[in-house]
Amino acid sequence: MKTTVFWSEAYPPPANLAASDLPETVDVAVVGSGYTGLNAAIALRKAGASVAVLEQATIGGGASSRNGGMATTGLKEEMRTLFRRYGAELGQAFWQWSLAAITHVEQTVAEEEIACDFVRSGHVTLACKPQHCERFAEEARWFQATLNYDDLWVVDRAQLQAEIGSNAYYGGLVDPNSAALQPARYVFGLAQAAARRGAQLVEEVRVRSLARMRLGFRLNTTKGSLLAREVLIATNGYTTPLVKAVRQEIFPAGSYIIVTQPLPIELQRSLSPRGRMFFDSKHFLNYFRLTPDGRMLFGGRHDLSTSLDLVESADKMQRRMVEVFPQLAEIPITHSWNGKLGLTVDRMPHAGRVQGVHYAGGYAGHGVAVASYLGREMGEVIAGQRTSTLFAQIPPARHPWVPYDRLYLPLVSSWFRTLDRLT
Ligand SMILES: Cc1cc2nc3c(=O)[nH]c(=O)nc-3n(C[C@H](O)[C@H](O)[C@H](O)COP(=O)(O)OP(=O)(O)OC[C@H]3O[C@@H](n4cnc5c(N)ncnc54)[C@H](O)[C@@H]3O)c2cc1C
Repeated sequence: MKTTVFWSEAYPPPANLAASDLPETVDVAVVGSGYTGLNAAIALRKAGASVAVLEQATIGGGASSRNGGMATTGLKEEMRTLFRRYGAELGQAFWQWSLAAITHVEQTVAEEEIACDFVRSGHVTLACKPQHCERFAEEARWFQATLNYDDLWVVDRAQLQAEIGSNAYYGGLVDPNSAALQPARYVFGLAQAAARRGAQLVEEVRVRSLARMRLGFRLNTTKGSLLAREVLIATNGYTTPLVKAVRQEIFPAGSYIIVTQPLPIELQRSLSPRGRMFFDSKHFLNYFRLTPDGRMLFGGRHDLSTSLDLVESADKMQRRMVEVFPQLAEIPITHSWNGKLGLTVDRMPHAGRVQGVHYAGGYAGHGVAVASYLGREMGEVIAGQRTSTLFAQIPPARHPWVPYDRLYLPLVSSWFRTLDRLT
């Protein structure tokens, strides 16, 4: 078994994507080359701004090439909670925005000719307990009545067999509008599109600090300094205290994935007859799907830590996978890897401007479509084409515990585990 990322091994980054030298001056410096940073860079180039995208690792090497490739409807926080918390008008706006985010990915993939296996396969949320089915039914009624959304339906245990080859669940909630893609192909395709449009992509350059100047910022990096009129921090789960207030809002948590070797076609069909993506109804959930080449991809969190041993992780993850699919007990695991999510205290993405620096992040494991669309909107804000984003309308959720993540994350994970036992 390899402890490398299957997606980028199957599709390595194209050669000559990034420049090695830092420009001296630029209109906008984007820190981070994932979906947020690259979508912003494309929007900025469309508006005519000069842009440098600075990446401490290789282009797209953060969560954007490591994730499950599930562009699902909604946001991480439940829509009903958003209605209660922010009111009906903003709640409606968040829902419509989340649908538009998937459409944005679909359109970008078509416009930039990114061959990333984008398909509206839909997803099923799987009930781990009988009472979760009742919750699903309530949720489907609420979506119909409040959001006029008919595309959400409940399947009972018997009907579930048409969706998944597993007896581990009591029912499911199907949403056909979510999309699957190959995440590395998508992020490398975005990078090629940004470069084609004239953005300068510089990799293996870490931004160490920012100094405010009269007309912008000086970025001190491991490759020298760069002057930029505007800066966008697009570092999500890899955020450091480059700007302390951003780090107080977005903190890292680990997510882990394994894939099996390619499965015989009949087995693939029996595991996921409609090619859907899946996640379960726990707080500490597992997500899984078939890859375009027919492997089972199975992911989840362990204890929110970012540095669990990948062999140990594979062992735990495989046991969970076999509980769901006993048919896979003898199938070898070929890859185990991890990546960092950006969490926030209120489970909402945050975006805006602090101390003159623009930022967006905090997608909480729900960022394939959300990071893409918010990245584009942040590019448009910086280019002066829009005044703000929806996410700038919610109060910042900064926490004072920056140095205490190591204490905070275990507390959060035990809380989620307790909730999973009790509810
Ligand atoms: C294992 C895993 C599975 C996931 N599965 C899903 C899924 O199925 N569906 C879904 O919607 N979401 C999923 N997510 C979340 C999704 O991948 C992220 O929300 C999304 O990729 C965030 O994109 P981003 O551009 O904001 O950040 P990233 O892609 O993480 O990019 C941030 C970049 O910033 C760089 N950086 C940080 N600091 C500096 C610095 N000082 N100087 C230069 N560069 C810097 C990092 O190296 C990194 O490459 C998953 C995440 C993980 C880790």
